[in-house]
Amino acid sequence: MNTAELAETCAGAVSGGRLGRMLDELAQWGAREDGGVDRQTLTTQDLSARRWIAGLYATRAGYKVAIDAAANIFIRREGNDPALAPVLTGSHLDTQPAGGRLDGAFGVVAGLEVFNALDEAGIRTQRAMEVAAWTNEEGCRFSPGLMGSNAFVDPTQMDGLRSVLDAQGITFGAAVDSACQDFAESARSNGWHGFDAPMKRAIHACIEAHIEQGPELERAALQVGCVNAIQGVRWYEMTFSGRSSHAGTTPLAARDDAMVKAVAAAHAVLGMAALEMQADPSLRITVGRFQALPASINTIAREARFTIDLRHPDDKVLEAMQVRLLQLCAQASHTAVLLCKPPVPFDAALHQLTQEACTRLGLPHMSMLSGAFHDAMPLAAHTPTVMLFAPSRDGLSHNPAEHTPIEDLTACTRALAFCMTRLACPN
Ligand SMILES: [Zn+2]
Repeated sequence: MNTAELAETCAGAVSGGRLGRMLDELAQWGAREDGGVDRQTLTTQDLSARRWIAGLYATRAGYKVAIDAAANIFIRREGNDPALAPVLTGSHLDTQPAGGRLDGAFGVVAGLEVFNALDEAGIRTQRAMEVAAWTNEEGCRFSPGLMGSNAFVDPTQMDGLRSVLDAQGITFGAAVDSACQDFAESARSNGWHGFDAPMKRAIHACIEAHIEQGPELERAALQVGCVNAIQGVRWYEMTFSGRSSHAGTTPLAARDDAMVKAVAAAHAVLGMAALEMQADPSLRITVGRFQALPASINTIAREARFTIDLRHPDDKVLEAMQVRLLQLCAQASHTAVLLCKPPVPFDAALHQLTQEACTRLGLPHMSMLSGAFHDAMPLAAHTPTVMLFAPSRDGLSHNPAEHTPIEDLTACTRALAFCMTRLACPN
């Protein structure tokens, strides 16, 4: 068999039944009564889920389970040449407090199902493959998110990250240390060996599977999204100043009303935004927060401010939009950039491979952007990286009602299996 045939064989061995059962089992750890999952990072629920996935593979022939200094877990399926850099997939096991069963969990389980399919088809690959479960993607217990994947790519961040506190005053460092101890204890009591994984090691390629968390694939009735970039995000806060005075006694000529200035500017921003978003479907401009001070019903505002969330896959467009937004807010007494995340383009050859996989497997697919951040974002700075999306029902995520039909999850896992096998075998 040539590599493409091997890849098709592996994709064909992916089982929706196995995938669904693993997702059901994983959803027990932190299960909510409403059907959702509350499995925040490094809590007892998360540690149980980690023990479960480690235990599934640690004693299976040809596998190793490892943990690194950020408590990222790696399940490794050895290749014929252990010296070659591995092909990496995976996502995160942690969820929002009122999260769903699939955000993160799908990407980890999809990677494990690729392993099951390879085992069932008896395929040995040249390179090793690894499934990562990255620590604290969500950023709700410890802020910000993406801590595990960021630390893997740049271990010098670990010192700073370790001192971040949760609401109970527990440091991220202490939580990571207990997760590492729990992993070692699980290995001891179950008679397997847990390995230490170095950070920032060579990775041949990285493919993360994830649910879309938006409505586009469902709307287009497609099963797989081949993600070519994560869009850039910039956040602004525009502040307008005036003078507080009595609403009943102050005539127009004597007013210096911050609200008048802010509303006029916000109106101009939203008008421009509607025209530009119509002309460019990739553009997003949102005024999400509007505040007045002192926020009193019978006092003219001394200060009014609003935020702008600007998103686009092209940094040049973001830059040009920023100039226009600042012009429209020229009356502001203060403008602040609260966040500036440049777009992350994914590897063009890997993006092409994801499309080839869908075409060969007959999976209805399209190219698309990611509107949300993912562990693949830091990884893209370290190794060629790409993502595959499965549709989200009603575009819902970060919600207990998060759902994707198993046929669509299986389709996305087949595409992942094809790509990983192609990357792990010689041409
Ligand atoms: Zn996620």
